[in-house]
Amino acid sequence: MKGLVRPNILNVKNYIPGKPIEEVERELGLKNVIKLASNENCFGPSPMAVKAIRRALRKINRYPDGASFYLKKKLAGILGVGENNLIFGNGSDEVICMAIKAFVGDGDECVIAKPSFLIYEIASQLQNARIKLIPMTKELRYDLKEMKKAITNNTRMVFIANPDNPTGTYVTKKALDEFLHGLPEKLIVFLDEAYFEFANRSFKDYPNGLDYLKRPGMIVARTFSKVYGLAGLRIGYGISSPEVISYMERVREPFNINILAQEAALAALDDKAFLKKTIAHVETEREFLYSAFRKLELEYIRSATNFIVVNVGKDCKAVFNDLLKEGVIVRDMKAWGLDTFIRVTVGTKAENRKFIAALKKVIKGVNS
Ligand code: PMP
Repeated sequence: MKGLVRPNILNVKNYIPGKPIEEVERELGLKNVIKLASNENCFGPSPMAVKAIRRALRKINRYPDGASFYLKKKLAGILGVGENNLIFGNGSDEVICMAIKAFVGDGDECVIAKPSFLIYEIASQLQNARIKLIPMTKELRYDLKEMKKAITNNTRMVFIANPDNPTGTYVTKKALDEFLHGLPEKLIVFLDEAYFEFANRSFKDYPNGLDYLKRPGMIVARTFSKVYGLAGLRIGYGISSPEVISYMERVREPFNINILAQEAALAALDDKAFLKKTIAHVETEREFLYSAFRKLELEYIRSATNFIVVNVGKDCKAVFNDLLKEGVIVRDMKAWGLDTFIRVTVGTKAENRKFIAALKKVIKGVNS
């Protein structure tokens, strides 16, 4: 089969997701394992979304509405954009993949920060693109000056996760304005705002991607996976000009958003209380975690998201495995080249305290 598979596929590394709770409990014979590994909402899904899913269950003999008509209408109204400015994806993962499929071909260049969200690189490799990885600054922020320098006439796409995963840092409005100024028009700027709602609430100099839609080739992506708590249903969306959206629509699978996801997202958009509670909790608990890291004398990166990367000063794989044995799943940052860092998602109050107690034991050998 090696001679048959497209050569670029041979270079693609599989995306390795955070370990599921059930798998860890089964393998290690543990109970009450907590997962702080995939930046999910610790409060579960929006209760209004759950009700909507129950109602929608009796319709699953039918294909979903391929155009996501009602959801598109509602979201367009909320965002103040046209319905033809929107496309839905099976998670914003799929929005990223659709954009790359539509705009990047053999040998085209993609400019990507390192470390950043791994799907940019994987999906670009699938298209046989040439990838230029631009290291972040030592503070783990985007080096937009270097990224701009890396752009040539052959560059088709540049990715900015704002805020970024795994670092949790964000690009300020001023830095984004400077970056966009004078860029070639024939270039897609993919602004991934998966954690928009967290950053927008907490940081005054955080830019709103919607303010940049006049730039030709700007794509903004957001998701229902994080603050809305619907990661398991897989639904996210892209916002761009009607022309860009029309090209992405050509590569979209006809029924990519299932009925339950459409109904749940519609309901979640109305659940303002859930959104508010989630964002306020993350703000407070981030401070708790920062303070605990300081007490443990661990260096951490201030985050604009619902997760934090922290330098544990030891091989991160070993710390990850030791935390697993304590019943806490985090993410080791080996795949991102941050060999002594782990990433932890903000959990419930109880989960965060369990994590800190486990970390103390693992790092310092101290039982609290
Ligand atoms: N972008 C970033 C920066 C992310 O961290 C994630 C989720 N890990 C995604 C996109 C994809 O999220 P989803 O497909 O669940 O919408």
